[in-house]
Amino acid sequence: MDEHARLLWEEQAQKVIKNLRQRHMDGVYCRDRREALDLIIRECKPYSPISWGGSITLDEIGIREALRSGGYDLIDQGAPGLSREQQLELRRKSLHSDLYITSTNAITIDGELVNIDGFGNRVAAMIYGPNRVFVVAGMNKLVYSVDEAVSRIKNFSAPANAVRLDRKTPCRETTVCEDCRSDVRMCCHLVVTSYQSTKDRVKVFLVGESLGY
Ligand code: SF4
Repeated sequence: MDEHARLLWEEQAQKVIKNLRQRHMDGVYCRDRREALDLIIRECKPYSPISWGGSITLDEIGIREALRSGGYDLIDQGAPGLSREQQLELRRKSLHSDLYITSTNAITIDGELVNIDGFGNRVAAMIYGPNRVFVVAGMNKLVYSVDEAVSRIKNFSAPANAVRLDRKTPCRETTVCEDCRSDVRMCCHLVVTSYQSTKDRVKVFLVGESLGY
């Protein structure tokens, strides 16, 4: 990546982190995915059990793979050979994990996390349940308002996920949100995380790379 753009991202990240702290959330900037992986894995050590939400970002960084091979106590709904019922049960159990790791669909320069979920398990864990929540986000997720975040998610993240999952949503066909009432709708819950009652329960790892959708 161009060094000037990287420098700008780093400066923007420091603004976001300052604003996160005013909202009782912690934040840290990692220059690239390697630095992020090292730091996150180190910071996972005290927690048991650990769980996570579905996320391309986590896979691109290699977090799930590192935790699976690192001897951690995990609630792993993605483990091979699980039935649909077992996956759903683990998804419920993950709401009681000590640490939950997820990405965010968008983060505003003011330090608000914006997410749209289908089942809602990921946003539920971000709101309440796990003692700690680590949120990992590439700087491509930075936006300047909640409205921009929602537009980004509905007109980019959701259609991209529909392509990935081969979902026959209207946005898969037209590439933009049609505010559908389709049986395969992916946008069921819109959550804006603006503040934490429990200070520093949420920690955001901003990464100076383009990650996920
Ligand atoms: S509401 Fe429907 S059309 Fe709009 S982004 Fe979500 S799934 Fe796609």
